[in-house]
Amino acid sequence: MSVAQGREYLAIPGPSVMPEAVLRAMHRPAPNIYEGALIDMVASLIPDLKRVARTAHNAAIYISNGHGAWEAALSNVAAPGETVLVPATGRFGLGWADMAQGLGIEAQILDFGKQTPWDLDRVAEVLRADKAHRIKAVLGVHVDTSSSIRNDLPGLRRVLDEVGHPALLMADCIAAMACDRFEMDGWGVDVAVTGSQKGLMVPPGLGFVFFNDKAAAVRAKMPRVSRYWDWAPRADPQAFYQYFGGTAPTHHLYGLRAALDLIHDEGIEHVWARHERLAQAIWAACEVWGQTGPLELNVSDPAYRSHAVTALRIGAPQGSALRDWVSRNFGLTLGIGLGMAEPDDPAWHGFFRIGHMGHVNGHMVLGMLGGIEAGLTALEIPHGTGAVEAAATVIAGK
Ligand SMILES: *Cc1c(COP(=O)(O)O)cnc(C)c1O
Repeated sequence: MSVAQGREYLAIPGPSVMPEAVLRAMHRPAPNIYEGALIDMVASLIPDLKRVARTAHNAAIYISNGHGAWEAALSNVAAPGETVLVPATGRFGLGWADMAQGLGIEAQILDFGKQTPWDLDRVAEVLRADKAHRIKAVLGVHVDTSSSIRNDLPGLRRVLDEVGHPALLMADCIAAMACDRFEMDGWGVDVAVTGSQKGLMVPPGLGFVFFNDKAAAVRAKMPRVSRYWDWAPRADPQAFYQYFGGTAPTHHLYGLRAALDLIHDEGIEHVWARHERLAQAIWAACEVWGQTGPLELNVSDPAYRSHAVTALRIGAPQGSALRDWVSRNFGLTLGIGLGMAEPDDPAWHGFFRIGHMGHVNGHMVLGMLGGIEAGLTALEIPHGTGAVEAAATVIAGK
């Protein structure tokens, strides 16, 4: 029997759950884009965005998804024929590399597979061998949303410093910002990109690029930057329309204002701690289920697990069967496995992901885990008992 009627929980890694406050803020008539409240409100967003990225430097906003933010960042620092280094731990590193290649930039890829984080010794080797400093930037995905690996960005900075390589450190924080601790200035990240629809809890449609003075100097030496992607006027507009290279994404901006208020009212440190605690509860449940049965966390070392998304292996066809069951019977949507197998390969059905980013609390996570428990039971997939209790114990801080 289905018990799906009621409020649904979209537990996929983006778009994330949108808070009522965000939805309410967006539900309004079109504002005047020439003068008045909108103009003042947008000016207030910039310092609050920088507080989330933990930077005192520059912020540029784009009307785009994450792919747009990728392209925006690259367009400002690398010209066709130049080289970037991409250590990849899943689908998204490869995606950013592909975006670079589409711009005529040479992407040197170090692929570390789908289950282990960057091997920083190998990154160091490649940087050390680049005596001519052809590598202009290193593109690091902080949390790879397909594998749920959380990479060591401060470690990557250390490697660049130890080798004495001048490449920019560019971070994809799309799945990590306002979920996992990220310190742009403190960690020496030169460029950070994110999007609106994950930890920032706003519908898809806004991309953000943060850049420091070192990156601005690289931009200044570029022979040409696409007028639309150019971050300079967006970060330092002389007229309001320059923030967005045209008409402002009015309603998204109201949503963003509400979301930033939620984040700063809670406090960014507390936001990170909440994500960590809820992630630990999810891992505890998954470990118990896996004691007898096929369920397995994709990342074995907790130190390298995202606090925003968890990738799981359960064997085909159970991954898809479980997602179908909880969606049809429980009002819960789980994420598909991404990049673990080709979509036409039967093995594709052996994976799923849990999104736990943004506007998520204890009862949502325990309810979600209860739904997976019900699904495993209904589908007669072997699993250890006591998983939800284990998660509750973690939430209780015991
Ligand atoms: C979601 C995501 C992207 C892509 O964002 P889109 O909005 O889908 O273009 C890129 N990188 C990471 C790490 C992501 O989580």
